[in-house]
Amino acid sequence: MRHVIIVGSGPAAYTAAIYAARANLSPLLIASSVEFGGELMKTTDVENFPGFPEGIMGPDLMVRMQQQAERFGTEIVYDDVVKLELEGPIKRVHLGNGDVHEAHSLIYATGSAYRKLGLADETRLSGYGVSWCATCDGAFFKQKKVAVVGGGDSALEEATFLTRFADVVYLVHRRDSLRASAAMQDRAFADPKIQFIWNSEVAHIYGDEKVAGIGLVNLEDGSETTLDVSGLFVAIGSDPRTHLVHGQLDLTPQGTIAVEGRSSRTNLPGVFAAGDVVDPTYKQAVTAAGSGTVAALDAEHYLADLPADALAVG
Ligand code: NAP
Repeated sequence: MRHVIIVGSGPAAYTAAIYAARANLSPLLIASSVEFGGELMKTTDVENFPGFPEGIMGPDLMVRMQQQAERFGTEIVYDDVVKLELEGPIKRVHLGNGDVHEAHSLIYATGSAYRKLGLADETRLSGYGVSWCATCDGAFFKQKKVAVVGGGDSALEEATFLTRFADVVYLVHRRDSLRASAAMQDRAFADPKIQFIWNSEVAHIYGDEKVAGIGLVNLEDGSETTLDVSGLFVAIGSDPRTHLVHGQLDLTPQGTIAVEGRSSRTNLPGVFAAGDVVDPTYKQAVTAAGSGTVAALDAEHYLADLPADALAVG
């Protein structure tokens, strides 16, 4: 039996682990078997995380957070959670390898998952020209033409990164103005390799074994065009990963986990939520880290209020 189990391995989860470990709660952190490290593992330069004036690569930042959590005694298991039992005083975490871990409290910080366009060929050609990660796949597109869909920070970050490899990067956006921050917009507008295609959506992805082009529809006049690209990067946002807690934890109308005020307390005693899974608005590494701090402190206070004989730790 543990004091606290943390599910997740992004900035919220590791920050919660650092605080819980330093409070002598010996946390067990369940990072996933494949996608550990969260969204920052798929990012390049992080220029807005305080303390790194020259910027830091996303994966490097995550390794540092992991090392900091381990330094204070966090135990990390790299496996997938397949089931959670959250009601009652003992929280049970079932893993893909069959192990079951128990704790008096649980911090749920599973982040969010990339949105898909919803086209049939998107899944079929995933890994064959369709990608959600320029950092991972950009190098396959040296001197090629690629398209990025989306108008937020992610899309512009992906497009800017892809100009290192591709000759032309089309940025396809469904409106005529971007949602991305001013700094990202300025950089993208100044980049001669990025060509903006406004008021358009991707209606088709062509190609038998790999992407050979995409079909666009202009949303203003309905006209259709084909773009000759060999890569399509989808960067249209993400949705909170809540599937493991459906039916147990209350959700907000936006689909994030409902928490009490500025706390991390969910509707179940001893269960706390942090990071992008509770945040429909800000979704920054640094806000996720702050949210992880809140969750660790809430868990610490919850455990401190439990009767001493309830706190058996094995
Ligand atoms: P986002 O801000 O939600 O933007 C998603 C974009 O995709 C929007 O432009 C949206 O269009 C478009 N979109 C959504 N669904 C679509 C669909 N079905 N078809 C076509 N287009 C669609 O998501 P994000 O860019 O991933 O950013 C998420 C959060 O992370 C933001 O808070 C952002 O600031 C942050 N972030 C920060 C950094 C950084 O600071 N370095 C980097 C990446 C992300 P509309 O504009 O028309 O809604």
